[in-house]
Amino acid sequence: MQYERRLTVEKTKPLQNVKLNQILGFETDQKDIDRAQEEARKLNMNVIGLYHSHPEAAAEMSPLDEKEALRWDVEIILSVRNYGDRSYWHLKAWTPNEDRTKFLPDSITVVEDEAPT
Ligand SMILES: [Zn+2]
Repeated sequence: MQYERRLTVEKTKPLQNVKLNQILGFETDQKDIDRAQEEARKLNMNVIGLYHSHPEAAAEMSPLDEKEALRWDVEIILSVRNYGDRSYWHLKAWTPNEDRTKFLPDSITVVEDEAPT
């Protein structure tokens, strides 16, 4: 039986990049994730995934992204590219397959332009 699964992001929480060389990537502190999950629980919410940007790169899952994200229901990647005085962005959602061995592109709809709190 086919069903449509819909995940809704109601709240976001920025996390600090703790990677030593921040130009080469992003790494979160597990304690920050634990704190975010505790905050979500207190609000009767669930942490469903992570979001991050790929400056000057495609919104595709890297092998490291896949490794880090397999415990989540969704990974959202924002690609931002600058061409001269113009910037272009592409937002893409990725969700794990049934056996959670890899991520597949999923549909995403932005329903509000205001940044979530
Ligand atoms: Zn990435």
